Amino acid sequence: MMPVVVALILVFTVTMAIPMLLFYVLGIGVIKKGSGASLVCLTFDDGPDPRFTPVFLDILKAYGAKATFFCLGEKVLRYPDLARRISEEGHEIGLHGFDHRHPWADLPWRAAKAIGTSASAIRDVVGQEPRLYRPPWGFWSLWNWLGTRGLRRVLWSLPGRDWVRNATPQSIVEHIAKSLKPGDVILLHDGGRYSGITAESLPKLLEIFKERGLRTATVSEMIGASNRVSTSDA
Ligand SMILES: [Zn+2]
Repeated sequence: MMPVVVALILVFTVTMAIPMLLFYVLGIGVIKKGSGASLVCLTFDDGPDPRFTPVFLDILKAYGAKATFFCLGEKVLRYPDLARRISEEGHEIGLHGFDHRHPWADLPWRAAKAIGTSASAIRDVVGQEPRLYRPPWGFWSLWNWLGTRGLRRVLWSLPGRDWVRNATPQSIVEHIAKSLKPGDVILLHDGGRYSGITAESLPKLLEIFKERGLRTATVSEMIGASNRVSTSDA
């Protein structure tokens, strides 16, 4: 094989394939769920979004529920009032990158800078130090792993599948109700084109949690409440 091809395969393996295996597949050093508690985490990615996030916040407030919003730095800067409202109403804000660029499509120095810029945006706008990071699409590279030292890296244990084609509020509720266990970290979106559907599913989801004796918590609350955090099974 041409030396340049071998070199490219080696670079891909070390900077992308191995991080995906370790952190996404095996979940090493990554929070996917809590355990031993009657808590559940709602997490919303890709916002804040003026079309949907206020609706999510109104519903959460009506149910006295708490959630974690993995926000994009670029949107925090564009909609600072919305980011502040998330925080002021007792929810947690985590990092989800700057502009949702795919972690594998990012240059190393740009990836690190984007994480730093997003953290600064949250710090400046919300006045709070972000403690959590979830990469776009859950994809890891060596660069976003190294760039998030000092942060808790978070994926999910229960994807709400609100992004699939033909998702409906009913399909989201049924899928989550079927698989839901205490300690689950549920992945949904408040900043996707489909997030109106997600918002519609929210009241029913919150009623199901109540019926099953589950209380909503932010990811940091759940980590603090858990005696041990499972990092390997999802
Ligand atoms: Zn995302």
